[in-house]
Amino acid sequence: MRYKKTHRFGPIESLETGRGYFGPPPVKVHSFFVDGLLIDTGPPNAKAALLDWLADKNLQQIFVTHHHEDHSGNVKVIQNQYNVEAYSSVLCTDLVKGKVQTSIPQLLFWGRPEYIDTLTPIQKDVFETPNHRFALIPIPGHAPDQLALYEKEQGWLFSADAFVSPVIKYFMKKESMAEQIQSLKRLLALDFEWLLCCHKPLLKGGKYQLQQKCNFLEDYYGQVVFYHQKGHSAGSILSLMGKKELWFQKLLSQNNLSAINMVHSVLRDEAKKQLINPS
Ligand SMILES: [Zn+2]
Repeated sequence: MRYKKTHRFGPIESLETGRGYFGPPPVKVHSFFVDGLLIDTGPPNAKAALLDWLADKNLQQIFVTHHHEDHSGNVKVIQNQYNVEAYSSVLCTDLVKGKVQTSIPQLLFWGRPEYIDTLTPIQKDVFETPNHRFALIPIPGHAPDQLALYEKEQGWLFSADAFVSPVIKYFMKKESMAEQIQSLKRLLALDFEWLLCCHKPLLKGGKYQLQQKCNFLEDYYGQVVFYHQKGHSAGSILSLMGKKELWFQKLLSQNNLSAINMVHSVLRDEAKKQLINPS
């Protein structure tokens, strides 16, 4: 089942897309449009919906928050039809030129990531449209190249995938929990009204839910360190914490999406900390 729905949040429009096989899509993704700017281009398999949605808009520029295919998936398709620049962080422009790691569930739900060599790296920490000025805030952790766009005057925070949900059940292989916690604290220090998350935009209570996620990850991190210091393995830490592995997803994704990745992420972050600051 192909899902698509349009939304309007004041002057911001969004297209929400997703794909389900045994009912509604398990994950949906928003692309936002405001003041001639498209923020994120949706997954590759939503290209027809994206192009259709853009048809009556005055598209002037594109911003890609990070390299994952549900955000960068249609840059080239759109640029083939519109003569517009697409911007992203310097690291993102490199990552989309390499092989974006994917897995069977991601291929099924998003489609195949494409090679993109047309992104323009942005070196500044602000991005402008005719009527708005967005501060670009580095929020690594979920992805190393991820940027948030913050429009201070309007109180809009386009948080890419920094939020998604207050409780997280699995990580991708390369995510860093320590960096995610730092990034969330960076966002929590901002004064914003609307949390324009690509998977769950919140016009009310966004800051509270973002704080909930930060608390959840800090607590999770602390528990992993506690059990690790007692000598437990990653697998036994997960069960001592009362968490369950998502076996079907783990096997189907060849370990790219799993609960144990969250424990490994903390152990990696701690090992890195020890290297920088040996005790
Ligand atoms: Zn992502």
